[in-house]
Amino acid sequence: MPYRLRFKPPPPPASGPVCDLLSGRTASVGGGSVRRVLPHPKRRLVGAWCFADHFGPSRSAGDVPGQGVGPHPHIGLQTVTWLLAGRTRHRDSLGTNQVIASGQLNWMTAGRGIAHAEDGENSPGDIVHGVQLWVALPEAHRHGAPAFEHIPDPPQVQTGGATVTLLAGSLLGETCPATTFSPLLGADLALPGGASALTLPLQPDFEHAVMVLEGTVTVEGRPVTPNHLLYLGTRRSALTLQGPGRALLLGGAPLQEPVAMWWNFVFRDPDEAAAAAQAWNDAD
Ligand code: MN
Repeated sequence: MPYRLRFKPPPPPASGPVCDLLSGRTASVGGGSVRRVLPHPKRRLVGAWCFADHFGPSRSAGDVPGQGVGPHPHIGLQTVTWLLAGRTRHRDSLGTNQVIASGQLNWMTAGRGIAHAEDGENSPGDIVHGVQLWVALPEAHRHGAPAFEHIPDPPQVQTGGATVTLLAGSLLGETCPATTFSPLLGADLALPGGASALTLPLQPDFEHAVMVLEGTVTVEGRPVTPNHLLYLGTRRSALTLQGPGRALLLGGAPLQEPVAMWWNFVFRDPDEAAAAAQAWNDAD
């Protein structure tokens, strides 16, 4: 039960640039297997990013309605779904019923509480590949109203053979329209073989990390493969990456709040998680 759990405060953000390569672990979600690179025992937050699951690429056996990730509640966070391949249907307690396809982005704000379900909509043999990320809501917003945003065409920048897609915040003159509640950056970096090295400007007051989705991406000279998070610390004004591969750059202003996570909840006091679980079990 959550109220018996004790939560250590998350490790503080690094006070300068570091290169900590953290290994992910395998977890089971909705009958499938994911690579979970955040939270990690050594790193619970990157900015307000608090959770990162990478699934696929794998071949769908075909989806049956009602399988997938069934209805479940969230509090205190935003979920971000980004698909590189495949299709998922999102339904939630606001009445949303939205299919997300590859290249599209879903942002769901749980605030004080929301329930949703995510079911694959793929035919046998379809490739399924994507991520689900969570963002902890800061104290001033974590009790706010739930919301859902579908972004069918997130902004992209082509540069030197690379394609940069904005999932959160601003980079290279583009801004993602998703509503965020703390200074945040999320970018998908497609770095094909033969493309020149990509150098991105960074905000020095953010902390940053890179997770790799495909191939081998060399970040500041360090090769990174899937199921790893390269934590980069703070006080960097630029980052150089080289493919061939695909990676997510995650960053944000350090969220210096005592964030705790249990089940699908992000909270501060274990009693809040117990109350949310009780409300879900009582079908509220
Ligand atoms: Mn969920």
